[in-house]
Amino acid sequence: MARIGFIGLGNMGGPMATNLVNAGHDVHVFDLSAEALQRLEAAGASVASSAADAVQNVEYVVSMLPADKHVKSLYFGEQGIAGAIQKGTLIIDSSTISAETARELAGELTGQGLRFIDAPVSGGVGGAKAGTLTFICGGEAADIEEARPILEGMGKNVFKAGGHGAGQVAKICNNMLLAVLMAGTSEALALGRAQGLDPEVLSNIMLQSSGRNWTLEVYNPCPGVMEGVPSSNNYQGGFLVDLMIKDLGLAQSTAGNTQSATPMGNLAAELFRQHSDQGNGSKDFSSIFQLFDQKGN
Ligand code: NAD
Repeated sequence: MARIGFIGLGNMGGPMATNLVNAGHDVHVFDLSAEALQRLEAAGASVASSAADAVQNVEYVVSMLPADKHVKSLYFGEQGIAGAIQKGTLIIDSSTISAETARELAGELTGQGLRFIDAPVSGGVGGAKAGTLTFICGGEAADIEEARPILEGMGKNVFKAGGHGAGQVAKICNNMLLAVLMAGTSEALALGRAQGLDPEVLSNIMLQSSGRNWTLEVYNPCPGVMEGVPSSNNYQGGFLVDLMIKDLGLAQSTAGNTQSATPMGNLAAELFRQHSDQGNGSKDFSSIFQLFDQKGN
């Protein structure tokens, strides 16, 4: 079993680190939130007093932070930990960040004798808790293979998308599609409801018809249709609207690099921004349903 330093214990990182503890690893954790640290201590992790402390003498470092600036600052900021990690250690960054930042980090960290893979995830908080995440990796094939047993402690699928940064490109392609599907599914459900249909009945019809998609299968955005999802819990927990806006921004800037047309992604970004501007940035992203529902009623 491995000795692992784990930084970032939020909606995703918390259950991921817990699963590593449950898999028998020696997990040393740090987060800026005392509450998050308490939860992990109760789950059996060793709580460190700083990020640098958490990565002392570990074989693997896993980071699960919100965005580019947090990840850059963790490794190379004023109290950056890159210098505190022993040479040869494999760093697995599972945050969703830009491919450009992932490549920069890979260059700087490997320049210091460390190893790095980008390994963003898909599967949401439910997948993090159940240990069924999909890891979408970029980096050296041998490093990804070495990380596999660690990743399999938190997920079911490990994909190699390509070299450094490729994991992030594949991840934002997926999330751009997810944003389009969530907005489209919400629009259809709100239309049906405005026409007097029961959204549960409509969901079941679409699930057995050509509109079937992941949001209808496991993450229905209409309150009361599905148990145990954020829409049935006032859109609390899950994947925040503002994090989805971040991912759509990453998709737009990546598309800009190759002059690729992403009109659907751009429209989804505009809708999620509008929704956030109405005070919904900290709700789960399936709350985009409310944007359509308020128009329909
Ligand atoms: P979150 O906001 O719930 O958690 C982030 C955690 O990082 C917080 O606990 C915060 O205190 C901590 N943190 C921030 N800066 C820190 C620092 N310098 N040192 C230590 N801890 C620090 O976010 P999340 O939902 O867990 O998402 C994490 C990443 O995973 C994001 O990049 C997100 O886009 C991606 N992601 C999220 C989901 C989802 O469904 N929530 C799904 C797939 C991918």
